[in-house]
Amino acid sequence: MANNRKGGISVATEHIFPVIKKWLYSDKEIFVREIVSNAADAVTKMKRLVSLGEAKVDESEKYRIDVTVSKNEGTLTVSDNGIGMTEEELQKYLCSIALSGALDFIQKYEGENSSESGIIGHFGLGFYSAFMASDKVEVVTQSYSDSSKTISWTCSESGEYEIEDGTRDGRGTDVIMYITKDSEEYLSYWRIKEILEKYCSFLPVEIYLHNADETDEKKKEDENKPVNDTTPLWQKKPSECTDEEYKEFYRKVFPRKHEPLFWVHINADYPLNFKGILYFPKIESEFESLEGEVKLYYNSVFVADNVKELVPEYMMMLMGVLDCPDLPLNVSRSYLQNDPYVSKLCAHISKKVADRLSSMLTQDRAAYEKIWGDIRNFIEYGCLRDPKFNEKVKDSVLLATTDDKYFTFNEYLEAAKEKNENTVYYTTDRTGQAKYIEMFKTEGINVAILDTVIDSQYISMLEGVNKDVKFLRVDAGIDKALTSGEEAKEIKVVTELFKKVSGNKDLEIKYQALKDTETPALLSSIEEERRFDDMMKMYGVDTHTQAPTKGVLVINTSCPLIDTLAKKAKDKDSNAEMIAKHIYALANLSYRRLTGEEMKDFLSSSYEILGKI
Ligand code: ADP
Repeated sequence: MANNRKGGISVATEHIFPVIKKWLYSDKEIFVREIVSNAADAVTKMKRLVSLGEAKVDESEKYRIDVTVSKNEGTLTVSDNGIGMTEEELQKYLCSIALSGALDFIQKYEGENSSESGIIGHFGLGFYSAFMASDKVEVVTQSYSDSSKTISWTCSESGEYEIEDGTRDGRGTDVIMYITKDSEEYLSYWRIKEILEKYCSFLPVEIYLHNADETDEKKKEDENKPVNDTTPLWQKKPSECTDEEYKEFYRKVFPRKHEPLFWVHINADYPLNFKGILYFPKIESEFESLEGEVKLYYNSVFVADNVKELVPEYMMMLMGVLDCPDLPLNVSRSYLQNDPYVSKLCAHISKKVADRLSSMLTQDRAAYEKIWGDIRNFIEYGCLRDPKFNEKVKDSVLLATTDDKYFTFNEYLEAAKEKNENTVYYTTDRTGQAKYIEMFKTEGINVAILDTVIDSQYISMLEGVNKDVKFLRVDAGIDKALTSGEEAKEIKVVTELFKKVSGNKDLEIKYQALKDTETPALLSSIEEERRFDDMMKMYGVDTHTQAPTKGVLVINTSCPLIDTLAKKAKDKDSNAEMIAKHIYALANLSYRRLTGEEMKDFLSSSYEILGKI
């Protein structure tokens, strides 16, 4: 053949090709991504030249990439109508591999398994990755700058190449990969579709997939739809996106997930250049995994799944996409963990989440209150882990009350101030502490629901920061909130009686005149002691079986029943003991779960009382 040029790839190919071939076997499919993204780059370059007036195209011509599989031919072809290459360019770009960086990298990781070494994706191997699955690659290309010349370059896996004149219908490049026997899966239409959907779903040029062997006309029609969405939502300006679009995008990228609670759209260009959308998922049950999923893109090309390192650790449940064109290539997970650029990214994300929370609070309070229950523990955990995050979101944290009202911390205290209080009263168990809650409610005091382990740590942190504010669980707040102010004197006989019926001669007893006149006695705990006990329980050190903390028995002198009891005790009435025993049991019952023995005892004395009526 005339004008036939031969040669050998000019980097130590005998090293490279075998390595490429066995490289990261499990990630072999990335060669499709590399070749298709080269095609997309070629189109982008063309568009740019046209916009600069450096080149002209026929208005009616659409930019596109065509991927064709042919089992009959044993080929996978990627064609584009991008910039194309002249012979000089082809010599420059494809014959002397710009692999110096890649070569170092290969040598470093040669023989290592990708998942073990934790390399996350963009290898920058580019065109030569085609040899992971091919034994011969043919490139037919025509540059935009010279429509009279098409060249065909064929390279074998040994690195030997040949350049001939070729034919092509117009500007652009075809990369024809002759797939090896052991890579036959890449001749399957469905396999290639799957790979394109994974890596190329958001490339900026329409990609059409064809099966050259398909004869069924109906199925052929399907091939006229692009496999990708060329304008992914994260590339748009947040002000141009609707809620419905955000939800639709979420459904598309995470098909099995429930509707997200809210999202943040990041569109940063200076000093950090990255874009993305991160969603707060709804966690349906406590058994559901809390692990989110962040997909990493590099200029719209998918690079890796689940790159948790890019979001702050306390936002591990976020789901979404991040497009980080400034992230260095060839990164490993351990690299990400220590990289200052990544820390800045995390800080930016955390700031964005904080901003979003505060704007939701001010702009759509009702919607914010609705999702608060689902997000509060994550936000509180974030506050505990990151003081900067805490500083930014502290005014967006809500306290939900037993009346289904929501207060910010400041609003709660503001409401409490009317009663000269600087205390947040809370419950850890709405059912178990119902009696106390009711008494607070009667007094017009809001009771916050703080019933998780994270809540209790969050409370301690808040108290540490706001020294004059105190959190008291309802059973520890009786003294402060519920007394009538009248003096209450000890009644010795009653004290003796309760010590006797409780079987505890050291039982702590306190006399108080409560505003409530119905309840004869209540158990009251000491906040610090109870918290300590709770903590011990959390660490598996059980301080008391069942009983949360030994309570102080508060005898309510405002209750007429106590007067009756005192009278009967003084008169040595035989029923006095039975009444005291029952009052004591009832106090315990509204304080904690009874033990089996106590419950049996309580039931028999109740029956005994009924028998006396
Ligand atoms: P990279 O894309 O990282 O530069 P590659 O090895 O993939 O590395 O490609 C080397 C060069 O070959 C590209 O920079 C580009 O100039 C050229 N090239 C590759 N594929 C195409 C194509 N489809 N059309 C035009 N030029 C291409």
